[in-house]
Amino acid sequence: MPTPGYYQLLLRLAADRRIQVGKLGRFDFPAGYYVYTGSARGGLKGRLARHQRRQKRFHWHIDYLLRYAKIVRIRTFPEGKETECKLNARLFRRPGAQCVADGFGSSDCRCRTHLAFFRREDDLSFFAANDSFSPSGQREQRRTVAQSQ
Ligand SMILES: [Zn+2]
Repeated sequence: MPTPGYYQLLLRLAADRRIQVGKLGRFDFPAGYYVYTGSARGGLKGRLARHQRRQKRFHWHIDYLLRYAKIVRIRTFPEGKETECKLNARLFRRPGAQCVADGFGSSDCRCRTHLAFFRREDDLSFFAANDSFSPSGQREQRRTVAQSQ
């Protein structure tokens, strides 16, 4: 059975990039770190695997950014406890969180954006090793997803 839930991707963009994000528009993404908050009703495992695949038809806003940015860490959350929008709002209360792309990932809700930019790695300590996992650690990933059920 797929496990639905919410997730946050911590991305690193190595250089400043101007990126066309589908129909949403073109944005300047400064080099640094990004946290994208999403939900996977159809299952976390499949969604996270899709985010890591390079070859795909672009569908979500995040697909356009993932062309240039690298997934560094992933956090998952069980469905129901806190909505993805609440997780996102909580993220934006953290020091250093900035909005650089209005409407990103928030076409279906009332949030300003679901993408937070952080210039400094120091502000991302909440992606601690015991609370997140790396995209390459497949075994680790399965365990973490199972833990959040
Ligand atoms: Zn939202």
